[in-house]
Amino acid sequence: MEVFFLGTGGGRFAIVTQRRRTGGIRILSEKANLHVDPGPGALVHSIEQRSIEQRLDPRKLTGVLITHVHPDHANDGNVMLEAMTGGAVKRQGFLVCARSVTRGNETVDPVVSKYHRKLPSMVAELKAGEKVSIGGFEIEAVKAVHYDPDTIGFKVRLPEGETLGYTSDTEYFEGVGEAYRSVDLLILCSMRPRGAPLRWHMSVDDAVKILEEARPRRAVLTHFGMKMLYDTSPQEEARYVEKVTGVPTQAAEDNMKIKVEKGRSLTEFFGGAEEG
Ligand SMILES: [Zn+2]
Ligand SMILES: [Zn+2]
Repeated sequence: MEVFFLGTGGGRFAIVTQRRRTGGIRILSEKANLHVDPGPGALVHSIEQRSIEQRLDPRKLTGVLITHVHPDHANDGNVMLEAMTGGAVKRQGFLVCARSVTRGNETVDPVVSKYHRKLPSMVAELKAGEKVSIGGFEIEAVKAVHYDPDTIGFKVRLPEGETLGYTSDTEYFEGVGEAYRSVDLLILCSMRPRGAPLRWHMSVDDAVKILEEARPRRAVLTHFGMKMLYDTSPQEEARYVEKVTGVPTQAAEDNMKIKVEKGRSLTEFFGGAEEG
């Protein structure tokens, strides 16, 4: 399994400044080509980076996963669905999303249009606790506590057997760590640094509590807001998290690629590599 970070910024200010990109994450394996949370830049950076990794071409997508309606997670959803279906001509691929993404709810409007909802060959709108199996993948929606009340995180089991968790935006609540227990890789949307909690969002203190319960093989912090980027550094926060939890933890960077294999993992930046 390989995970590409086409964006590592989160929140309104990261979007409007593009201090960090906001294109979301791509998961690649022999059988998988999934885009998770296509925020602003998902389409453009996928195309730009395909010269380095051809499979990032958005026309090669086999699935799109969207956790909630906020622009930093969903803005490019419609265009990624168009790309996945070869320019809206072939009914193929799947969309797995929170119900609000396609249906809206009492507080938010849908962000995938009725027209785009018809493009993929399969759409699954999941509530926390629901699971779907598609083409050898198992995708489970995990509860999140965020101000789109339908927000979910994902736990994905790849056809090859590796497991990955992605928390999306959530504050800490009892049971969130347990839901991601023992995954091979846990990606945490930790927008805020230590000592700077914000309702509905994850701080590094929350990330520590989640990791102590989840005990994944490896963790990555991403989705950084301005306080994380200016008041401290994601690297420093990741070092702290690793020290107190004992879970190998790193801070994501734009264009970072992680390979997760049985018993071994490797981090590469487009251009160089380091064992981790
Ligand atoms: Zn967000
Ligand atoms: Zn959000």
